[in-house]
Amino acid sequence: MAEQKYPPGIQAYIERGQQMAATEAKQRTLMRRKRFDTIAVHGIYGLEATLAHQGSINEPAFLSSAQHFENSDHMEAALAYLMPSWAYSRIANPTLHYLEETLALLEGYGFPGEVSCCVTASGMSAIFLATNPFLVEEGQGPINCVVSSKCYGGSFMLFNERYAKERGIDVRWVKDPLDLGEWENLVDEQTRFLFGEMPSNPGLSVFDVCAVAQLAHQNGIPLIVDSTVATPALLRPLCLGADIVVHSVSKSMNTGGLTIAGAVIARHQILSLVGPDELKENFALYLKLLPGRDFGPALNPLSALFVLNDLHTLRSKMDLLSQNCLQVALFLDQHSEVTAVYYPGLPADSGHVVASRLMRLVDCESDSDTVSQRYGHLLSFRVRGGAAAARLFFDNLQMILRATDLGRIKSIATIPAISTHQQQGEQGRSLADIPVDLVRLNVGGEHPEDIIQDLDQALRGLRQS
Ligand SMILES: *Cc1c(COP(=O)(O)O)cnc(C)c1O
Repeated sequence: MAEQKYPPGIQAYIERGQQMAATEAKQRTLMRRKRFDTIAVHGIYGLEATLAHQGSINEPAFLSSAQHFENSDHMEAALAYLMPSWAYSRIANPTLHYLEETLALLEGYGFPGEVSCCVTASGMSAIFLATNPFLVEEGQGPINCVVSSKCYGGSFMLFNERYAKERGIDVRWVKDPLDLGEWENLVDEQTRFLFGEMPSNPGLSVFDVCAVAQLAHQNGIPLIVDSTVATPALLRPLCLGADIVVHSVSKSMNTGGLTIAGAVIARHQILSLVGPDELKENFALYLKLLPGRDFGPALNPLSALFVLNDLHTLRSKMDLLSQNCLQVALFLDQHSEVTAVYYPGLPADSGHVVASRLMRLVDCESDSDTVSQRYGHLLSFRVRGGAAAARLFFDNLQMILRATDLGRIKSIATIPAISTHQQQGEQGRSLADIPVDLVRLNVGGEHPEDIIQDLDQALRGLRQS
């Protein structure tokens, strides 16, 4: 029996809210028993939910700024977060809720505990929301975080410019994330979290998520993993011991590229040296209801619908795109105009052993390890002849698009040193290992022979010049 500490009018809404939550929990439990593809197709939008929305077989787009309430008691109960409601689209929205539940189920697939998600307007806002709450001073001198230097340019700028330079936080860079000793040496009692990208953009570096998670937990802090490049179809860091997963949902979870979006997905009951109990109990919900409400990085509901639509085929797309990418990597690896290829799927790659252990196509119906290994559809390579040759090759491309984008169904190339990693400067690039002749390639869903042919003619052009 609930304590009778609210007036009867409010209490009635609390009880109605408990029934609503129980109905949804039932649906969530039902879906947690389904396979990955089934979850990607249905999320928690079941038959009852469709009938409550005039039979709409797709999750409806709630393009409304706010929710109307039955009366003042209903409004008060909702705004005090005493019952499920959405109130105002900066705080919550039913369409976002469908996406959050789907992402929590996919990222939590195979994880025995509870998982929640908070979606945001971009990957960067997700990374900011996921890291900022831990970076509060609590009187014992300067605080620090330990971060893999092999990371996305935007993340580098957040850590280096906003956190280190503007706020004086000691950001300790791990230069080789495969070296556990380096992580260990940088952690101390003032470390608030560990952060790594798996695999990294654009260097495709990997790290042993299980071992680094253990190190975090020994120090009472969370491990945060950016697993944008892998997606839950190939890697689910929560199952490997990570506490919080961040995504740029703008990428492979949304191959059509109709929007940008982000997500923070966290297990319940995380470790932290700071923050209120709510933060530790259900981090994603805490972000959504409190810091998310105050900072305001809410996703547009129409964007959430684009993502939901694209997610339905996530597993089969990551399977196809990874296979295309491996073929392209093997081609580039033997090309005379290419001096190095970075792709964890290549047997000689420094991350191959760890990636082969951790990255698997989910629900791949095979007993053989090698049949289920998939490494995603991002690779990078160095062109013989330095920066000028890389630019000439780039300008020679006839089908592959030139854009600072990845995760697409269309093949896209970038030169990180003049685009995504331009603003961090030469010193920052050398820390992150971004040479001037590096090309990042997002391998799309075109026939791999056509992708290879375009790369080959662009590389041949170098010899003729
Ligand atoms: C693109 C990207 C981000 C940033 O996401 P946005 O949606 O562009 O804000 C973060 N991490 C990785 C690995 C990325 O590729």
